[in-house]
Amino acid sequence: MVLEKLESTRKRLESTDDLAKLFKQADKSELKPLTYLLSGRISPAFTGIELGVGDKLVEQAISLSSGKTVAEIEKSYRKTGDLGETGRIILEKKTQTTLSSHSLSVKKVFDNFLKLATTSGEGSQEAKVKLLAELLNNSSAVEGKHLIRFATGRLRTNVGEATIIDSFSTAVAGDKSVSKKIERMYNLTSDLGLVAKTLFENGIAAVEETTPIVFSPIRPALAERMPDSAQIIEKIGECIVEGKIDGFRLQIHKKGSEIKIFSRRQEPMTHMFPDLVKALNEQIKEKEVILEGEAIAFDERTCQFLSFQATIQRKRKHGIAEKTLDVPLRLFLFEALYLNGVDLTSEPYEKRRKTLEKIVEEEKNAGGAKTIGLAKAVYAKKPKDIDDFFEECINEGLEGVICKDLKAPYTAGARKFAWIKVKKSYSGSLQDTVDAVVIGYYFGKGKRTEFGFGGLLTAIYSPAERMFKSIARIGTGFNEEQMQFFSDTLSKIKLKGKPDDVDSLVEPDVWVEPKVVVEVVADEITKSPMHTAGKTKAGDGLALRFPRFIKVREDKTPEDATSEDEVLEMFEMQKQR
Ligand code: ATP
Repeated sequence: MVLEKLESTRKRLESTDDLAKLFKQADKSELKPLTYLLSGRISPAFTGIELGVGDKLVEQAISLSSGKTVAEIEKSYRKTGDLGETGRIILEKKTQTTLSSHSLSVKKVFDNFLKLATTSGEGSQEAKVKLLAELLNNSSAVEGKHLIRFATGRLRTNVGEATIIDSFSTAVAGDKSVSKKIERMYNLTSDLGLVAKTLFENGIAAVEETTPIVFSPIRPALAERMPDSAQIIEKIGECIVEGKIDGFRLQIHKKGSEIKIFSRRQEPMTHMFPDLVKALNEQIKEKEVILEGEAIAFDERTCQFLSFQATIQRKRKHGIAEKTLDVPLRLFLFEALYLNGVDLTSEPYEKRRKTLEKIVEEEKNAGGAKTIGLAKAVYAKKPKDIDDFFEECINEGLEGVICKDLKAPYTAGARKFAWIKVKKSYSGSLQDTVDAVVIGYYFGKGKRTEFGFGGLLTAIYSPAERMFKSIARIGTGFNEEQMQFFSDTLSKIKLKGKPDDVDSLVEPDVWVEPKVVVEVVADEITKSPMHTAGKTKAGDGLALRFPRFIKVREDKTPEDATSEDEVLEMFEMQKQR
């Protein structure tokens, strides 16, 4: 089976060729399901369809398929620490005694998992157990292991998006020569399954012609860093400088009066923001638009931006209506990406900003300001213009500024110099915070023992190697509530040993699946023999000096964490400051 094969070929090149073959041989109807399964999903993030199968359900399915009791299965699970492995052991015994084993098609696996994810209401639990048990009945023991890992979201062999894209290119062109074109379509639609279908059914020309699709989010453009304003002007010349707002990044899709709102990682968020939906309908009259902006809690009385801690209260599943009144939001738009059938992503920024100004009906008079406005902006010709505006923004409670290249297209899914961020520095010489992935944790001493939590071991990400490399052990910055949070959250994803995609010489008390992203502030980046981030074969790695925890970055996936290249850049930059 496909998943099994991938486990033995973790090396990227090998798996690119393997995958290319797989896609070439696949039946047309299997292309979409195959792509989703390989990326560890059953549907793109923006559909909101998630598997989320708990251990209990899996244990029941193994029991139904094998005839063993749940107690016996749990006993084995305690020994192996891996439900997939437990499934394999138990199913192995079973296949020795029964002969009926049909082979599983990609479509069958996909259909059952999709049903599993979308079934709800009375009796749905039993139905779900049956759906998984049916797959286990028709699989080999090793396939069963992978099915279980997939179901519980612990399939550690997921191939990265970049590898899938390279394999698409290899399948149609024999090499990676059309990867960039394919990646562009992915960045515009966030849907690898759709990319596969378009490419293999209609060819690369159809991929190239793709324009944004309303209700299919565009992957976010990201900002670079530079040491100072003089170098920014030198790099991009005259630019538009905007206030950097520290709230939620939101992408808004509107067709007629239907509105959908997506997060930075393309999850559907519409239900959380009824107030924004209402305001968007009132203030935006265009038929079809895709816009982007940052929502932030705002104190109407003092006209001050509120902290991220205030804004985050609006991210909730229950009590939405009350919080809408308690913590009113403002939405500050900074991008117009699509307007009435016209793709704006390749237009220069200056033009997109002017279009945005026309689209939004802003309240021009003082007082009675409306919910939706534009991110404040000025033109900067010289470094001093940036510095002055930066001061002004900081005094208003903003996080800093973003300088935008007037001529640049929207760099979907990429960190480019089209946007350059300058943030207020916390202390020391490090200009920006680092978003690191938690790879392990420590039990505390003293007061901390009561939480079973005393600190984090964190890592940055290398997209090229698909590895998490350690950069800091963080012991400070946590209040009691946060210690409780980490203790609860991390104990659920603990592992028996270091996972394959983690590179670390430092041993935490407990290893965890690299899942949770935290924002960390530090005084500087220093060389260190202890950490593996940025490490060359012979030399030292890089570490954060005096790292302090700031917040959990729920809006980032582990792959969105600060990359190894960014850390190396920040290290170089700090020497210049
Ligand atoms: P950070 O940790 O600095 O928020 P990030 O990795 O989330 O960084 P960056 O690309 O470094 O993202 O910085 C851009 C982020 O700044 C955007 O994701 C967006 O949420 C936020 N932002 C705030 N104001 C603006 C603005 N006027 N234009 C663009 N992005 C803005």
